[in-house]
Amino acid sequence: MALRIGFFGGAGKVTGSNFLIESARAKVLVDCGIEQGEDACLPCMREAFPYDPKSIDALFVTHAHLDHVGRIPKLVADGFRGAIYLTPPTRDLTELILRDAAHILAERARQENVPPLYGLPDVEAALSLMQPLAFHEEREAAPGLSGLLRTTGHILGSASVRIKDEDGTSIAITGDIGNSPSPLLPDWEPIPDADAIVMESVYGDRLHPPRETRVAALREGLSRALKKGGTVLMPAFSLERTQLMLYELSNFFTAGELPEVLVFLDSPLAAKVTAVYEKWGGTYFKEAAEDEMRREGSVFEFPFLKKTLSHEESNAIEAVPGPKIIIAGAGMSHGGRIGKWEEKYLPDPKTTLFIVGYQAPGSPGRRLAEGTRSVRVNGVQVSVRASVEVLEGWSAHADRDGLLDFAQACVPQPKMIFAALGEPASERFLAQRLHDYLGARASVAESGATWEVTKQAVTRL
Ligand SMILES: [Zn+2]
Repeated sequence: MALRIGFFGGAGKVTGSNFLIESARAKVLVDCGIEQGEDACLPCMREAFPYDPKSIDALFVTHAHLDHVGRIPKLVADGFRGAIYLTPPTRDLTELILRDAAHILAERARQENVPPLYGLPDVEAALSLMQPLAFHEEREAAPGLSGLLRTTGHILGSASVRIKDEDGTSIAITGDIGNSPSPLLPDWEPIPDADAIVMESVYGDRLHPPRETRVAALREGLSRALKKGGTVLMPAFSLERTQLMLYELSNFFTAGELPEVLVFLDSPLAAKVTAVYEKWGGTYFKEAAEDEMRREGSVFEFPFLKKTLSHEESNAIEAVPGPKIIIAGAGMSHGGRIGKWEEKYLPDPKTTLFIVGYQAPGSPGRRLAEGTRSVRVNGVQVSVRASVEVLEGWSAHADRDGLLDFAQACVPQPKMIFAALGEPASERFLAQRLHDYLGARASVAESGATWEVTKQAVTRL
């Protein structure tokens, strides 16, 4: 028997993950994400899906990042009625991310005077279809097709998805693969039983510094910054990056490596995400971190941490004298509460801004990382007299060697590995290395292409 895989998003692009796997009798989707960043085609996101959503039997979700879940409410609004399978933490995180997205889309639609891509009722409808599925619990999801989730160590609950038919022909999608070892998440698991694997390749052509190096750089940077007596600003993505920062800060304070200063988590979304990490940390972290969670209740709490939820609490931060640390979204300084703090504190030479995440070209964060002395944030042009420090290596993605290790661990070797979910150059680089170093048959995933997978061969249609 044969399976087919169609690449409808996340081919030649990091974002917009969307793959269709079909047999003669059933159709299953993996991920239904939105495109983000400067090469995103936002008008495309409004177009009809290239398949009939009513004809899809089930959807599997690899993880809760918006570029993997952001179009699920539209899929449901357009007629999808099947079950949505995802790990329990991914379900909780997806709920937060989609509710937040609905608010942002409504705001953007008001500004542009167009109807929003979807609204809260569509999010509710999507949530009602979700069926949590634990790792390694194989589930018959459609006539003759079953799905299995394995950990990828990328963010809390992140999974690879392997779809198999009755004869054992199988295709796996890795989703995003973590930068293992992480201090919190389990290491990625290899996929030993797929005829074809679709593999992410965001950092297919780059290396990250090791964890000790980046932790030391953060500790030394923070101690320098706090000595100046001003404000430390940290624009951070609400999901995963913020929790990692809180975890490292908590360790620094416990070890007495930093002076005792107030740390403000000025992001209601990040606070809610952190609560989900606390809820599942005892069962979905790596063993050592699970023990720590059970012993201490939370690895993200420390005595000087203040979570400012209301606008009043947030505004009151201004009256607190430095040194102090403010962590807020958005991660690329393109919105959220970090904007008002950048407007206030970037002109002050006592301020230090730490950049700990990917900054898309054209974003205010990218301009700051490149050393601009004047930037537009919060709707106003601001002069930058603050120090700006870029800290490398905090990515939640495996680097080029990590990706090669992952592919090497997938034994027996699949008949084909598709490099996907990366910039075209990075996908090509990964495919070439898989071929050169592992002797694997590898190909770059092309948007719109369909391939047939059998136990004997993998061929393009
Ligand atoms: Zn991701």
